[in-house]
Amino acid sequence: MGTAMTIKPLIILPDPLLRQVSKPIERVDSDLQRLADDMLETMYDAPGIGLAAIQIGVPRRMLVIDVSREGEEKQPLVFINPEVVKSSDERSVYEEGCLSIPDYYAEVERPATIGVKYLDRDGKEQLIDADGLLATCLQHEIDHLNGVLFIDHISRLKREMVIKKFAKAAKAKAI
Ligand SMILES: [Zn+2]
Repeated sequence: MGTAMTIKPLIILPDPLLRQVSKPIERVDSDLQRLADDMLETMYDAPGIGLAAIQIGVPRRMLVIDVSREGEEKQPLVFINPEVVKSSDERSVYEEGCLSIPDYYAEVERPATIGVKYLDRDGKEQLIDADGLLATCLQHEIDHLNGVLFIDHISRLKREMVIKKFAKAAKAKAI
């Protein structure tokens, strides 16, 4: 038997849900764990390296990440109520993309290392020191929980161009 995981439809820019602030999770139960598994399945299918619950339309503070390389063993991580507790002055730049803003990439500068407090898939309190791609990915996903997108970190001109393009595409689809 086992529980079948479900690939969920992704919320795409300019859906206003992406600007919603997600609510803290009060209880880690089997329903929440199923949601985490569905999120992982959806992320792997896309494919992507991170996904916040709001990206499948669920405004709760949970995200999943896997920054393992192609060909390596999968390293799925589940973060519930993640909170940045420290961040370095040193910064790093990565080219970022987002499953909710398909086929658009831009360089974003963020703190190079961060400390994050969170609950894992079992509801256990954890503290992680992240650097490299994981640090960037965590900050990108935690932004989602606050209604912030990576295009908010680029120039206003570029951001407005992207939003306009996606608004036009959504309109075309609606006809
Ligand atoms: Zn994203």
